[in-house]
Amino acid sequence: MIPIAVPNLAGNEGAYLAQCVAENFVSSVGAFVTRFEQMVAEASGASDAVATASGTTALHTALATLGVGHGDLVILPAMTFIGSANAINQAGARPWLLDVSGEGWTLDPQRLEEALSNKTQRDAQGSLRHAETGERVSAIMPVYTMGVPADMAAISAVAREYGLPVVADAAAALGATYQGKPIAQMGADISCFSFNGNKTVTCGGGGAIVAADPKLGARARHLSTTARVGRNYDHDVAGFNYRMTNLQAAVGVAQMENLELFLDRKRRIAALYKDRLSRHPLLGAFPTPNYAQGTFWFSGAVLDRSIGDRLPETIEHLRANDIDARLFWKPMHLQAPYADCPREALDVTDDVWQRVLVLPCSTSLTEAEQEHVVAAVLSAPALQLERTRSFA
Ligand SMILES: *Cc1c(COP(=O)(O)O)cnc(C)c1O
Repeated sequence: MIPIAVPNLAGNEGAYLAQCVAENFVSSVGAFVTRFEQMVAEASGASDAVATASGTTALHTALATLGVGHGDLVILPAMTFIGSANAINQAGARPWLLDVSGEGWTLDPQRLEEALSNKTQRDAQGSLRHAETGERVSAIMPVYTMGVPADMAAISAVAREYGLPVVADAAAALGATYQGKPIAQMGADISCFSFNGNKTVTCGGGGAIVAADPKLGARARHLSTTARVGRNYDHDVAGFNYRMTNLQAAVGVAQMENLELFLDRKRRIAALYKDRLSRHPLLGAFPTPNYAQGTFWFSGAVLDRSIGDRLPETIEHLRANDIDARLFWKPMHLQAPYADCPREALDVTDDVWQRVLVLPCSTSLTEAEQEHVVAAVLSAPALQLERTRSFA
C-alpha cells in the first residue's frame, strides 16, 4: 500500500538518537532541544522558539499565554483538525466557528469582520462579549490549512480593531511565507507548529511555539515548563509539563537539516498532481492563493460538485489499487464535542470538505509511485463520465 504521508528518516535521525543514549540525555533538557529550538526559530523568522510535546499542547500554551481562560470564546475556522478546538477546550474556552474563504480554505477575514461587528458588544468593563451567549471573546485562531497561511494582513487589521490577540495554528506551515514574510512575522502574536509523524518535519511527536514579541515567547516557555521560578520547587502559577524530550528533538534536528529538501519534494508532488489531475474536467486542485507560498503538506484533488458524493467509492477504488487515500478533516460543527458551539454560516466549509481527496504525498514518494497514483485516480469509475454521457 502506498501510504498517505510517512516520515522520511534518511538523514541523521538514527545517529542523533544513538548520541542521546550514549550521552545519557534522553529527557526534557539537552543539547538537541536547544538546537532544535534555534533551527525552528530561524526557519520561522523568530528570535526564539519553545519546543513542546505536541502541536496541541503548543496551542494550549499559546492560548494560556495570551490570557484565554474559562468561559471564553475563541474564534476558529470550522475547517480544521480537531486539535485546534481541543486546545481551546483545554484552555477552558469554546470555539466560535466561522467559515473559510474558497481562495485558501483559511479563515475568511470578511466573515470575521461581519461576525465581530454583528454578533458582539462591549460590556460595562469594556470586554468584548458574544451578544447571544454573553461569553467573552478573547482571541482569534486562524488555521494555516495544509500549510497555506491565512490572509494575515486582513485578519490582523480586524484583530487590532477589536483588540483581540491572534494565535495562528501553523501546525503544518513551517517554511511557508506570506507576502514574502516567514511565519513569526505574518501578523499573529503567537504561532504554533506540530511535528507529529505525518507532518513534513517530524519529531515522532512534538510541537513548537514562536512569538512575535520575545516577552510572549518567554512567558510561553515559563508556562510550558511548570512555571518554575529559580532552581527549587517554586512555581508562580499553575503551569503545564509540555516539554519536548531530547529524544524527540534529536529526530527533529535531523529532520530540520532536510527542511528545504522536504519542502521541495512536497512542492514537486503537488505540482505533478496538479499537472496530471486538474486537466480532468471533474477534478480541481488544492488552493494556492496569490498572497502566500504554502508548504503543500498535503496534496490531492477536489472532486467536482456533480460527483461530490462519489468520494468514498473513489477512495475504495484507490485502496483496491494498493493506494492509501483519505477524506480531509471533518469540520468542527460536525464533531460531537463541538456541535453545540456558536457558529456563523459555514457555506464554503460545507461545500468543500466532502469533496477533498487527499493522495499519497510522503517526501519519499517516487515519481513512478506518483504516476501509479495518477493512473489509478484517472481510472476511477466516478471520473468516467464521457462514456455515460455519450450513451445518455
Ligand atoms: C497536525 C495538526 C494539529 C495537531 O498537532 P499534534 O502535534 O498532533 O497535536 C493541529 N492543527 C492542525 C491544523 C494540524 O494540521
